Amino acid sequence: MALSLQVAVIGAGTAGLAAARELKREGHQVTVFEKGNKVGGLWLYDLRVETDPLGLDPNREIVHSSLYRSLRVNLPRHIMGFTDYPFVKKADGDPRNFPGHEEVLRFLEDFAVDFGLVELIRFGHEVVRVELIDELRHEWIVESRTQGKESTEEIFEAVVVCNGKHTEPKLADFPGRDTWPGFQMHSHNYRTPEQFKNKIVVVIGNKSSASDVLKEVSPIAKEVHQAVRGPEIQLKRLENLNNAWQHIMIECAREDGKVVFQDGSIVDADAIIHCTGYKYHFPFLRSNGVITVDNNRVGPLYKDVFPPSLSPWLSFVGLTNGAVPTIVIELQAIWVAKVLSGKLKLPSQQEMAKSVQELYNHMDKSGLPKDQTHTLQQTKFDYENWLVALLDLRPLDKWKEKMFYFSKKIKSYYSDNYRDEWDVDKWIQEIESSN
Ligand code: FAD
Repeated sequence: MALSLQVAVIGAGTAGLAAARELKREGHQVTVFEKGNKVGGLWLYDLRVETDPLGLDPNREIVHSSLYRSLRVNLPRHIMGFTDYPFVKKADGDPRNFPGHEEVLRFLEDFAVDFGLVELIRFGHEVVRVELIDELRHEWIVESRTQGKESTEEIFEAVVVCNGKHTEPKLADFPGRDTWPGFQMHSHNYRTPEQFKNKIVVVIGNKSSASDVLKEVSPIAKEVHQAVRGPEIQLKRLENLNNAWQHIMIECAREDGKVVFQDGSIVDADAIIHCTGYKYHFPFLRSNGVITVDNNRVGPLYKDVFPPSLSPWLSFVGLTNGAVPTIVIELQAIWVAKVLSGKLKLPSQQEMAKSVQELYNHMDKSGLPKDQTHTLQQTKFDYENWLVALLDLRPLDKWKEKMFYFSKKIKSYYSDNYRDEWDVDKWIQEIESSN
């Protein structure tokens, strides 16, 4: 007989909602703790920025979302939905294939309503402590605090962590960073470009946020200089922008305000924007050192989800990078729900620990840094397909995989306006007719 457990889910973003739905489907008793007042997590645009724009002050008031006002999705909507609940265009919505962020929020709100998840959520409840109190009976204490700071402790049989991974800024490190007299911020606190009017701005990074911010700041700034890591990077003017250059990474930032790049070029900058990613952060987790975050490696975690010695009672959904977030989140959520109900078995603790160690050994041998532990690029869709087989699900549509890899290359095909220039529907037809 399937087990029905009391399960706490932390967070009501994409991962928390997916986890809640799968746990509910499996017959578990689900309570979702959400510190905000609405579902959506990252997709709830928040005008507020943090008091410390670099996010270094541990006592700053945290703003969860990292969205900028103009953000449009960076993957076609066709691969942002759930297997049985696609992210379709609605009559009164944003009809674009790469819609604005408001459309994703509406999608998640509808998802929560349509699957009866809203009633499972305790809004305004921030989880401040998760701790195993009885190993034999696998009892976890979950302490949550309301916005009025009232605190409650409750016991659960399992906890699923879905608190997101895009809130705690990771900064570029270079000599002089902390004494440079100009203005610095992390993209987590970037909302709109106005404050950079007529300024000379350095944007660090080469991923979606960096290129979006750069393009948005350039028309009003005096100059924009992008700093990018990598031996192949050469100083060049950026196409389609009149006042933007790409440089190799920053060598140092001087107290006279000058920023020196590793190729010797120098700019007299007013501002530096770090579009350099985020750190995993679980301030509520008391695991007696069983789970650590070391250089952005959360470990040990079997297949990015289960810490061997605490599994299956503690799990993490949504930690992986370099994949289609919603697809991976949904598969991980199904896995957790079915393992908790006893329908699926995990390998033994020793086998899971061995698998984690093998991954670490492989990374060491290949020279991969720890912060790549949860990045799936190298293995393509192997992880997703492995989960699909384990869960005995219908194979994933092949075109989704192709679409994901094509979206990675898209910028070089369609210049900077790839979101509008790529005819995604025609592309799907072509792929389907070639099969
Ligand atoms: P979140 O959406 O961050 O949700 C976490 C939730 O947990 C939040 O609601 C938060 O309030 C809550 N929470 C946190 N701590 C606590 C606590 N202690 N107690 C209670 N509640 C807590 N993905 C795409 O598929 N397409 C895109 O185009 C795309 N664009 C992106 C652009 C940016 C700038 C960023 C940063 C990410 C983007 N992503 C995109 C990735 C996106 O983060 C994931 O798709 C997905 O939204 C992550 O969901 P999540 O539930 O893991 O985290």
